[in-house]
Amino acid sequence: MALLRSIRVRLTLWFVFLLAITLAIFCAALYLALRHNLNSSLNDSLESRAEIVAGLVVDVDHVDVAELTIPGDPVEGEEFVRVFDSSGNLVFDNSGEKFRPPDDPAAVSAALSGSRTRTNLDLGPELRALTAPIHANGQVIGAVEVGLSTDDVHSTLRTLLIIIAVTYPLALVIASGGGVFLAGRALSPIDGLTRTARRISAADLSRRLDMRLPDDEVGRLARTFDEMIARLDDAFRRQRQFTADASHELRTPLTAIKGQTEVALQRDRDPAEYRSVLRNVNTEVDRMIRLVSSLLTLARADAHQVPLAKEDISLGALVSDAADQVRSAADNKGVSMRLRNGGETRVTADQDLLLQLILNLLDNAVKHTPSGGSIDVSWSKADGQAKVVVSDEGPGIPTEHLPRIFDRFYRVDKARSREGGGVGLGLSICRWIAQAHGGTIQADNAPGQGATFTVHLPIN
Ligand code: ADP
Repeated sequence: MALLRSIRVRLTLWFVFLLAITLAIFCAALYLALRHNLNSSLNDSLESRAEIVAGLVVDVDHVDVAELTIPGDPVEGEEFVRVFDSSGNLVFDNSGEKFRPPDDPAAVSAALSGSRTRTNLDLGPELRALTAPIHANGQVIGAVEVGLSTDDVHSTLRTLLIIIAVTYPLALVIASGGGVFLAGRALSPIDGLTRTARRISAADLSRRLDMRLPDDEVGRLARTFDEMIARLDDAFRRQRQFTADASHELRTPLTAIKGQTEVALQRDRDPAEYRSVLRNVNTEVDRMIRLVSSLLTLARADAHQVPLAKEDISLGALVSDAADQVRSAADNKGVSMRLRNGGETRVTADQDLLLQLILNLLDNAVKHTPSGGSIDVSWSKADGQAKVVVSDEGPGIPTEHLPRIFDRFYRVDKARSREGGGVGLGLSICRWIAQAHGGTIQADNAPGQGATFTVHLPIN
């Protein structure tokens, strides 16, 4: 049974089984066709002999023995000629004593009334006899019975059977060998693939099968494996990086809290000092809460656990709402905000998530725009899509950082971003929200201006 678990063995067995059936059908057809042909040529010979004899007999009362031996000297037991007169009396017989055929009056009388009869005789050797009428001047003047040995037919068929009996199993044995060999050759890369794949562990995803195989089924399988391992490697690496970054981000505020409280506890202090320490601790705890809730959002997003409560939303109303929420921060910083209505634009989206997306972008814009600068927010619909553009007058994003700006924990200037309370997850969350709605988000630098973030969302 263990053997049957090998594709090689199963393939070979199927192959041999089908070959056995095909060969059996072929051999049977060959045997039957040959038997049919040999029999009909024996029958033809009997007919022509009967015809020749009938042609030679002019008068059954004076059968010329010398004439009738023309077809060749009869070899006893292999052939014979017998002639009957119109009354059914035997007038000529060269069958010899030993292999005399039994009289068959029914066949003779049938021949005398014009019909032909074929019979098989077993005289020791087997013969086939044909009894046929002899005509002269349109009248039946007698009957002729010719016999021919069926030995040739039988021995030819016997030889064929022997050949089949020997070659049939031989062909199957050779085919099994060939099948095992060919299946082994075709499948051997799979064994190699299995061995190599077994050596690749989760801890070592940098390894590849890297089997230089031709572009066939197995080659494509190996390459697909390699692509899959590369994707896993990438995912694992990002996961590790994410965990490391998250731990680091959490440690920073904790270290700050620890430092502050330890210093404060070293001796008695006045209430103003305690208040200052508590304020700092409070700021760090706020940062941790922001970080942990962002992490939670992304973890849920990764696990596809955030159900989107989609509803019909006016983009203008949503943007105005977000702008109202950041207005006081913008006013404090001396940054003005301009909203440009590009026409009533409605989308089907999760209101809270979409608001969070716009808020993140506006927060960033306020953070990076210097005092006296302004922020532009516009919404419109074009090419079957809704579009929101947030541009500011800050320093923009250095071109080399643009491709990675949406990566988790990615910040252009870590220290400055931390000062501003950023953890580098805001844009990752923006990208997830846009993508969860079937949209896109893109960052650019408007020349001479600041950064421009463009969100495209499918329209209702
Ligand atoms: P953070 O919470 O640190 O702001 P984000 O994911 O929101 O994280 O942004 C990632 C980084 O992208 C920021 O650290 C900042 O360097 C850069 N960035 C985001 N928005 C702007 C902007 N409007 N102008 C310039 N840089 C920006």
